[in-house]
Amino acid sequence: MRVLVVGSGGREHALAWAIARSPRADEVFVAPGNAGTAQIATNAPIAADDLDGLVAFALAQAIDLVVVGPEIPLALGLTDRLQAAGVRCFGPVAAAARIEASKAFSKALMRDLGLPSAAYRVFADPDEADAYVQAHGAPLVVKASGLAAGKGAIVCQTVDKAHAAIALIGRERAFGAAGDEIVVEEFLTGAEVSILAFSDGATVRPMIQAQDHKAAFDDDRGPNTGGMGCYAPAPLLDAAQLAEVTQRVLQPTIDGLRAQGSPYVGVLYAGLMVSEGDFQVIEFNCRFGDPEAQAILPLLETDLLDVLDACVDGRLHEVELTWADRTSVCVVMASGGYPDKYHTGLPIHGLESAAALPDVVVFHAGTRIEGEAVLTAGGRVLGVTACERDLPAAMRRAYEAVRLLSWEGAAYRHDIGAKGL
Ligand code: AMP
Repeated sequence: MRVLVVGSGGREHALAWAIARSPRADEVFVAPGNAGTAQIATNAPIAADDLDGLVAFALAQAIDLVVVGPEIPLALGLTDRLQAAGVRCFGPVAAAARIEASKAFSKALMRDLGLPSAAYRVFADPDEADAYVQAHGAPLVVKASGLAAGKGAIVCQTVDKAHAAIALIGRERAFGAAGDEIVVEEFLTGAEVSILAFSDGATVRPMIQAQDHKAAFDDDRGPNTGGMGCYAPAPLLDAAQLAEVTQRVLQPTIDGLRAQGSPYVGVLYAGLMVSEGDFQVIEFNCRFGDPEAQAILPLLETDLLDVLDACVDGRLHEVELTWADRTSVCVVMASGGYPDKYHTGLPIHGLESAAALPDVVVFHAGTRIEGEAVLTAGGRVLGVTACERDLPAAMRRAYEAVRLLSWEGAAYRHDIGAKGL
């Protein structure tokens, strides 16, 4: 098969890496990719939101399967466009991707399906949102309904902070049209866990649970980021609770979207808040998480291409997922200053020695090649992943690799995985 992976981050390197290991993968392309994907696949210089360019490339290269990494092309309708051109695509159509692209849509779906989730209200008028907050009191969570690169949810411990969040989203338009609707939600407490699942529109197959680390600094301090690391499997939910997540959340969501006429084919990502053995849905994403993909995919023993193919063909019921009896830890190494201002173009040292360690894969995110050198090219630069017999061993191994890698100002958390000990 000829496969095109869309995106340029650590998630897409992990996808291309897992796909390239399949005996059925004849050629793998990544658009636009990074220095890491260039080593295992062929990069095509097409931006992930260039729908015309991606459709034309898929047709010209006779691509058998397109696998979409990021949410933006899905929300823009890349899958719809590819399907119309007769190209098979793993990832939901735009109507189903609204589960991430519109929190107002997603919350209404959760309510209509009776999923366990926070009470909420949606406002088009910031004044009405202010009045509601004034009457309701804090704590609350104020969110831009649309896509805001993970920055659109503001946890407000005071009413003043909630008013400020409403002004930022609704009046200053900090997230542009994503703030056309403002969602105000009940504040949930507990520990967060990510449950990702494959779906073919009818059948759903959950993956191992993963725990992301969103804050920039150790002990969950500092600003929120795209994700500074992840480990899997996380121990937050036991087998019975995981079965309950499938039965009470994942399957009803897939069934509900199919009933609405937009069957969901792709990865359904449920962010859950777990407290005292009970769970609530915080959010849905319409694709693999990054870095979650980098921790989860190395433990998947089933051929990933077989799974993706079965999803697109509507025969996921024929496929069982098997997982290595190991634990993975992915430590994200970022540019100094991330998630605020940072420098790029700095040479990265130690890539070969880190990758030579047993049970270690160094996934690239913001990297590019210049001559012989690999340079930094983004905020999150590398996802250093180790798979070992247990969590302490995986943490030790991942940080052994991290210490071999360096560039000027490189930053990372020292406690990825510690939540799971
Ligand atoms: P979201 O953009 O909805 O994924 O939210 C981003 C992050 O904000 C989540 O991962 C949580 O840490 C936090 N968050 C969102 N909604 C809530 C809520 N209702 N209660 C507590 N924390 C929340």
